[in-house]
Amino acid sequence: MDPRLSHDGALLVLNSGSSSIKFTVFQVADAGKDISPLFSGQVTGIGTAAEFSVKDVSGVSLARESWAERDTGGVAPLLRDLIAWIRTRLPDLPLLAAGHRVVHGGAGFHHPVRVTNRVLDELESLIPLAPLHQPQNVSAIRVLAESFDGLPQIACFDTAFHHSQPFVAKTYGLPRQLSEKGVQRYGFHGLSYEFIAQRLRETVPEVAEGRVVVAHLGNGSSLCGLKDGRSIDTTMGFSALEGVPMGTRSGSLDPGILIYLMREMGMDADALEHLLYQESGLLGVSGISNDMRVLLESDRPEAKEAVDLFCYHVAKEIGGLSCALGGLDALVFTAGIGEHSAPVRSRVCSYLRFLGITLDEDANDRGDTAIAADGSLPVYIIPTNEEFMIARHAVDLMNLRNAA
Ligand code: ADP
Repeated sequence: MDPRLSHDGALLVLNSGSSSIKFTVFQVADAGKDISPLFSGQVTGIGTAAEFSVKDVSGVSLARESWAERDTGGVAPLLRDLIAWIRTRLPDLPLLAAGHRVVHGGAGFHHPVRVTNRVLDELESLIPLAPLHQPQNVSAIRVLAESFDGLPQIACFDTAFHHSQPFVAKTYGLPRQLSEKGVQRYGFHGLSYEFIAQRLRETVPEVAEGRVVVAHLGNGSSLCGLKDGRSIDTTMGFSALEGVPMGTRSGSLDPGILIYLMREMGMDADALEHLLYQESGLLGVSGISNDMRVLLESDRPEAKEAVDLFCYHVAKEIGGLSCALGGLDALVFTAGIGEHSAPVRSRVCSYLRFLGITLDEDANDRGDTAIAADGSLPVYIIPTNEEFMIARHAVDLMNLRNAA
């Protein structure tokens, strides 16, 4: 065990994006057996006028400050200020470690890893695979390494959970030498799926052993087929664009569209990237918003069409993943839309009668944990918690490393 874990301490979990840093601080006690969240917050609007806000576990605001005047030199000074704030808030609780959500672990990282200089270089070499997110993940780790010498840092990957997928799920119908160079399906949201798989094991172990589709429906959305808690297939692939239409991302397209847009409309890689990541999905189809709540409240036909398109594709993917799993024993909804939107769950499930799924609409409206009607396959709402999963991995890794 890492000697640091013999005393209570704080663990910082970071999710660094291009214009925001989201964080949760956990208290770690009882030699790492007890991990409980203390507060969560974010620095948003980085690069324009950064704003810092923190809430405790019950949602009470602990701070809300404009950090616009500090927002001059990128993420580094803001991250240092964030840690200074945490230390002032928790003067008696030493910072034990930092756990990072890292979007891409490539073909090599199948598990969370303690960051060394070599690991950092490898993470940097994966930037071309996730150019919109990986640079921020790597630079947050570098800033902490430079500012807090010796602080253990643990990288947890969105891709790692999916490495158990078989060849047929991982491989595109492209020449083999491209797959060998890394053009393959990686999948994302792995920390969320891993958390759900663990929750199922703790709460309904007989279901956890079976064939389960998890629908992680948020701003970014994907679905995953789990068999005995392992990922068999997932809807996101090489990038986080594949699969269902999302808030602003297109989801799967005929690749011929890209050739057409390049040839006939003169679009280059940057223009395509912007179109597919920022202007498409619910926003692009509705022309109104990327926010599911706004669309559900709108009476404009374009809003309804966008919601219909989303629900149709989610249902179709549940059908496809059930085929990959050889049948279905349970369905789980999670993330912003999956956890909170009864109308979306209801519309998705209206396609799934053929799989033996019928919702108890009252339970669905209430947002109960179990929302299937009598005689239906079980359908659950399970809130995801990627931050907790990262904290768990960080503590486990500190324990293992020093036990070895
Ligand atoms: P991210 O992928 O950024 O982590 P979240 O999981 O937080 O996203 O999900 C954000 C999405 O959840 C938004 O589209 C938002 O509209 C949707 N959402 C949150 N609450 C509700 C609700 N009560 N009804 C419908 N959609 C909701």
